[in-house]
Amino acid sequence: MKYVITLLSGDGIGPEITEEAKKVIAATGVEIEWEEMPAGEKVMEKYGTPMPDETLESIRKNKVALKGPITTPVGGGFRSVNVHIRKTLDLFACLRPCKSYGIKDVPFPSLDLVVVRENTEDLYAGIEFEKGDPKIQKLEELTGAVFSKNTGISIKPISEEASRRIIKFAFDYAVKNGRKKVTGVHKANIMKYSDGIFLDIFRKVAAEYPSIESEDRIVDNMTMQLVKKPQLYDVMVLPNLYGDIISDLCAGLVGGLGIAPGANIGDNIAVFEPTHGSAPKHAGKNRINPISMILSSALMLNYIGETEACAKIENAVRQLIKEGDTLTYDFGGKASTSGVGDRLAEIVAANGIRP
Ligand code: NAD
Repeated sequence: MKYVITLLSGDGIGPEITEEAKKVIAATGVEIEWEEMPAGEKVMEKYGTPMPDETLESIRKNKVALKGPITTPVGGGFRSVNVHIRKTLDLFACLRPCKSYGIKDVPFPSLDLVVVRENTEDLYAGIEFEKGDPKIQKLEELTGAVFSKNTGISIKPISEEASRRIIKFAFDYAVKNGRKKVTGVHKANIMKYSDGIFLDIFRKVAAEYPSIESEDRIVDNMTMQLVKKPQLYDVMVLPNLYGDIISDLCAGLVGGLGIAPGANIGDNIAVFEPTHGSAPKHAGKNRINPISMILSSALMLNYIGETEACAKIENAVRQLIKEGDTLTYDFGGKASTSGVGDRLAEIVAANGIRP
């Protein structure tokens, strides 16, 4: 079966790492017809927007996309193309597995955590008032607060509906993937009416899954726990902002952004992309680590039902790290981006056994 999948190669390092992901997927034998669509800073001039409608249409039609990182334009236009894609296509769940794949020189070499981040609301909802906006005075009347004239305001909405679906997603993921525990992370002691909802729904949904252990943690405590005893955790579910921060922290625990894949998943559309950004200072140098992008494409293969191909890629990453002689600078090696892609494709083609 040949799959048609939308491809956004992204900005900065995006095109280099996307090329390597395509190479490794091809080595699995899964046939994909890539529908490459324009997106990002590099298409702004031609299309007048970093996210042309035809690109979103292609993702809606194909239901699956592989996406390189996209630079957030500074000033004007979209707040972030990435946030725009997630909101427009209602990709409410951000899945970020953090596995160490045997990397040495990390404090916890056999960690296997999964971060499930809510993608549609919280401080990413885009409800903001610039300093000097006359609406801030209305907020003062409404709330009784007094703001200095130099105050900017961002509002954090958290709903029962969005909390329920992301928390259910986390528990369903745990059941489907043989995970034992889900931890709900919040700051409900302070944000009683926003995080308070998240915590309340977490406890209610947890009761619907008696086979999965559950617990909740306040986010500041969670950061300390993760740095000291990450092996105590399994699947974590968090509102948008905490999920963004904690997923980078977890990426750091297992070796850094070079090995941090991700997926944005909705009811029937999913976009796969690494956790990291477009790292413009490394662009075009053939030195950045393509593994996050390659592992994101493995998650994509798993999502479309090509579980064996996904496992082949994950095993190949494990083997590449064990061999240790084809690693990029961030893992202490000297290999190039294309060198890592070539070696992974070779291992995948040989079914995980060094030829
Ligand atoms: P970044 O993640 O692009 O890079 C930060 C640093 O992390 C890099 O300088 C590099 O040292 C390291 N790094 C990142 N990816 C790596 C890899 N594959 N291998 C090895 N090291 C890696 O963050 P930034 O510089 O803050 O952001 C650059 C741009 O990317 C911004 O415009 C930002 O908005 C955007 N961004 C996009 C996405 C996305 O497309 N989903 C996500 C985050 C940031």
